Amino acid sequence: DGSIAAGILDGLNLEQRQAVEHDAAPLLIIAGAGSGKTNTLAHRVAHLVLGGADPNRILLLTFSRRAAAEMKRRVELLVGRVVPQAPRLGWAGTFHAVGARLLRLHARTIGLDPAFTILDREDAADLLNFARQGLGLAAKEQRFPTKATCISIYSRAVNTELPLQDLLDEVFPWCRMWGEELRTLFGAYVEAKQRQNLLDYDDLLLYWAQMMTVPEIAAEIGGRFDHVLVDEYQDTNRLQSSILLRMKPDGSGLTVVGDDAQSIYSFRAATVRNILDFPKQFDPPARIVTLARNYRSTQAILAASNAVISLAAERYAKDLWSERPSEQKPLLVVVPDGQEQARYVAEQVLENREQGITLKSQAVLFRAGHHSAALELELGRRNIPFVKFGGLKFLDTAHVKDLLAVLRWATNPKDQVSGFRVLQLLPGIGPKTADRLVQQTARNTPLLEAIARFKPPASVAAHWPGFFALIQRLTAGLAGWPAEIEAVRQWYEPFLEQGHEDPRARKADLEQLCQIASSFASREQFLTDLTLDPAQSASDESGPPLLDEDYLILSTIHSAKGLEWTSVFVLNTVDGCIPADLGVGSRDEIEEERRLLYVAMTRAKDQLHLITPRQFFTHGQPAMGDRHVTAARTRFIPARLLEHFEQVSWPKVTASSDGPSRIAGAAIRERILGMWR
Ligand code: ATP
Ligand code: MG
Repeated sequence: DGSIAAGILDGLNLEQRQAVEHDAAPLLIIAGAGSGKTNTLAHRVAHLVLGGADPNRILLLTFSRRAAAEMKRRVELLVGRVVPQAPRLGWAGTFHAVGARLLRLHARTIGLDPAFTILDREDAADLLNFARQGLGLAAKEQRFPTKATCISIYSRAVNTELPLQDLLDEVFPWCRMWGEELRTLFGAYVEAKQRQNLLDYDDLLLYWAQMMTVPEIAAEIGGRFDHVLVDEYQDTNRLQSSILLRMKPDGSGLTVVGDDAQSIYSFRAATVRNILDFPKQFDPPARIVTLARNYRSTQAILAASNAVISLAAERYAKDLWSERPSEQKPLLVVVPDGQEQARYVAEQVLENREQGITLKSQAVLFRAGHHSAALELELGRRNIPFVKFGGLKFLDTAHVKDLLAVLRWATNPKDQVSGFRVLQLLPGIGPKTADRLVQQTARNTPLLEAIARFKPPASVAAHWPGFFALIQRLTAGLAGWPAEIEAVRQWYEPFLEQGHEDPRARKADLEQLCQIASSFASREQFLTDLTLDPAQSASDESGPPLLDEDYLILSTIHSAKGLEWTSVFVLNTVDGCIPADLGVGSRDEIEEERRLLYVAMTRAKDQLHLITPRQFFTHGQPAMGDRHVTAARTRFIPARLLEHFEQVSWPKVTASSDGPSRIAGAAIRERILGMWR
């Protein structure tokens, strides 16, 4: 009954209430970060349920599984406050998860076997690789794109619906000569999926969209739901919007929510047009609700974020205001390099914890997964538990383990685990052969001697001399540190090219590892430091950590969408990182990078640290020669915006000696002292 449902409205502002109470006509909530869009959506669902809507006839679409779970929890909490037995929401999930479920229910109507298996990204790449080998395209000397690149091209092609050759020319120019072969390959891949009744992630959307073109099925699926609500609508693609419109052609029961200033997924074919054009799809047009008050951030953080987005080429018509007072402007922290950046974050995080800010209410955000490498090691060293969203922790990744295994084995030939791992890196050596050799070194035969005496199988003969030379260098210890780890990396890199998913990112990880290694005096110190006190960190997101455990959040900015923390650290706010790829980006790409910084900044409630290392480690830019570039603060914070920030240098030096060399000197002294702490 209406009066029960009305209790839900307490504490909402006028516009939020209007959105919550709005009837079933199409509705768009378009508003800035932290204005309560997601919160309003949850209230709207709770309000519907309390007003008598069937919770199994409400479809809630979010952009991640985590967001779906959180939304369900919020709705059930809200409803539970009013009625004792809160009903569970039947349909809350990502487009992909919901698509899979609907496909299983309706598969037969489009001639699909409902027992299909879903391929994750890695499985898909493997399947594509089989097809590649079958066609004889895998031979290395042909320099054919890796399976990871192939799968990216494929995915991009099906999502954008661009002709393959156009896509190659525009986005993958280094693969443009392979148009014919890729077309054949993708044909074989699609056939293999069909034969084996497999669907990849993209298929979940494609088949769902295809299913919706059959009017009867579209009516049936649309008819399952009285309400369809979508969060983060600015990051949906054309397929997704076509699915929605076919489900609810007149828009009845349709609510979409988002912020055009936060669209950051165009590289996955998301288009901001979806949200901008939404009202016009219907007659009469959808009701538009905008929210202006930000409840998340302090005035100072909001002012700085607003200033950054106000320089965008696009005009975002949002004047967000906050009533949360603040003494502290966001910090622009200049540190000498990546290592000091890691130390700065670790120390601030601990200091915050002393002040009563739990680790969980603090987050470190970065552009790409590998940017947290130095920080992860630093946190491990200090026993600060952390969880990394999206992606494996640095030290758990296969390629980092591979490289370390070589160093470990050379240092300690009795280390069978490492030896076993290293030998199998060589193409043609399997577990049996590896075991034979490892047994010898485990029994005191010097490593080099064992390898010299060993008769490798013919298949590995080509790789043996190089391997022998490497081990020779390492055991003789002539190269010195850190040249040794560089040598291992150079030896290992060609193997990375073959078969590994995403060799570019992995190479970047290894460069990063070498860079970190170079700050140690010797191989032994480096290995000891890595293995002593490995972080007792909470498990990654696949297995939820113990409930009462406290841990710091590490996340890419993309994965942090929609979330908020008391204290937020943004790593590498330098040109070359945010925005990435200096100079090569088109204007649209640069603008998306600006929005990315905006998304990062607007995650913070009370405290925001933007960190600028004076030296930023770049990769994949061989033209630059030097891997360390002297970095400049991100161009998105030009001098005229500095009034919104407080600038600090770290580590702190005495006022009169604030020069860069003194800072570096202080950093070195600090590091030496740190060894004895
Ligand atoms: P984003 O654009 O980042 O997704 P959003 O617009 O979805 O942000 P929410 O996450 O829903 O914003 O809300 C931001 C914060 O403001 C949350 O902590 C939420 O609980 C709080 N909030 C929202 N509305 C109100 C309100 N009327 N009163 C008090 N707090 C509110
Ligand atoms: Mg939100």
